[in-house]
Amino acid sequence: MTTELTCRELVGLITDYLEGALPEPDARRFDSHLTGCDGCTTYLEQFRRTIGLAGRLEPADLDPAAESTLRSAFEDWKNGR
Ligand SMILES: [Zn+2]
Repeated sequence: MTTELTCRELVGLITDYLEGALPEPDARRFDSHLTGCDGCTTYLEQFRRTIGLAGRLEPADLDPAAESTLRSAFEDWKNGR
């Protein structure tokens, strides 16, 4: 029995997911949420692209401004529905 992630929970787990730090069951819930949620899929792609531009996968080094821009874009998307 697994519980569906909410969009907000997913956003909180993105850095762990991209680092491969999520425990298997959480990673599976993450993937299954993405399958049914275009908004989170887009958000994840933007997040990946931002990290890609930064050079390597080091969320700790991720520009806080870039991260907050992404987060507020996500909030706008949520609020606009
Ligand atoms: Zn979602």
